[in-house]
Amino acid sequence: MSTIWGALGLAMLGVASVGVLAPVIVVCYLRGALLTHELMHVRRPEQVAWPLRMMMLLETPLGLGYREHQDIHLRHHRCAAKPGDPELFQIRGGSARALAAAMLGPELAALRWVSERGVSPSLRREATVRLLVMLALVLAGPSTFLAYWVVLRLTVGVSSFAFHHLLHYRRVGGWGAGQAVYGTFPLRLPRPLDAALRLLLSAPLAAVLCEHDAHHAWSQVKAERLRGLLAEFPVELEVRA
Ligand SMILES: [Zn+2]
Ligand SMILES: [Zn+2]
Repeated sequence: MSTIWGALGLAMLGVASVGVLAPVIVVCYLRGALLTHELMHVRRPEQVAWPLRMMMLLETPLGLGYREHQDIHLRHHRCAAKPGDPELFQIRGGSARALAAAMLGPELAALRWVSERGVSPSLRREATVRLLVMLALVLAGPSTFLAYWVVLRLTVGVSSFAFHHLLHYRRVGGWGAGQAVYGTFPLRLPRPLDAALRLLLSAPLAAVLCEHDAHHAWSQVKAERLRGLLAEFPVELEVRA
């Protein structure tokens, strides 16, 4: 997160354009999101540093913090891709529908959270700080912040689509036809794409995607240990229409 703030700072100071810094923002977001996901399985909100607890990436004024994201993710694990899964809104339906939902994911997740649980003092406090910082940056450099925001929102949306829809939805008989089924699946890519993904994210972090079925079977196991785990210790994961 600090590297993303650094990139935004350089862009705001005019040292480099957002276009030049975009690859840094994209890669740091993807790695940071996967690292944060690892932490969510082992650290309570009080045990993480405040910038992480705030989740202050400035992608939306209606965002949730670490506390809320952790609760949502752990509920996702308890009933993945089933009714009751808070991520179902960006898993179900066809790919176009799921992608649209993922693009609006930060706001949809926040609206759902507030409608179900209201606004806690910590959520109100943290959301106010995020909103004020975002407003200050909009005033300081509107066009630069807009460019940063577009890069970040596209990255957040596409990665959220991949993390939820691609890992929990399949079409039996091919993506263009057949019946939709829901479950938890590993990400299997053609070899060059797989190699690029591991290079971009690092092999241990990419394993959360490539071995997502193993991650759901053993959510406390570190990502780097997931490969081959299901072959050695088979677990039946539910697949349903
Ligand atoms: Zn999952
Ligand atoms: Zn998880």
